[in-house]
Amino acid sequence: MKKPNEINIGGVVYKITYTKDRVKTDLDKRSQLWGQICYHTRTIRVFEGENDHTRQPIDQFHVLLHEVIHGIIRQHEFLEHCIKDRDSEEVIVDQIASVLSDTLVRNGWFNLDDWDGTPKKARGK
Ligand SMILES: [Zn+2]
Repeated sequence: MKKPNEINIGGVVYKITYTKDRVKTDLDKRSQLWGQICYHTRTIRVFEGENDHTRQPIDQFHVLLHEVIHGIIRQHEFLEHCIKDRDSEEVIVDQIASVLSDTLVRNGWFNLDDWDGTPKKARGK
């Protein structure tokens, strides 16, 4: 699977971009973030690593799923009502993203070998 550039969540299309600077991952450039979804601009940003140190595809995929799950919760009000506050949402979203990304990759449903356009063998890993 190559890095996706957009995702449709319940009819809302989000543009996905990948950053090389954690501060630029934050739309407001105030915090260093691994990822961020903005419901207003319909964008998702994922930190892919700095120029000389790219993060592993599984780590980028985990962050992307994390932001997508936030989008799913936002899109479905009933889910928002099940979560008592933002801190709880963060914990729940990250736990689901972690086990979901691991399960999908472990079972071969998602092959991340081609994530950054470089076949796994050429990456030397
Ligand atoms: Zn989050």
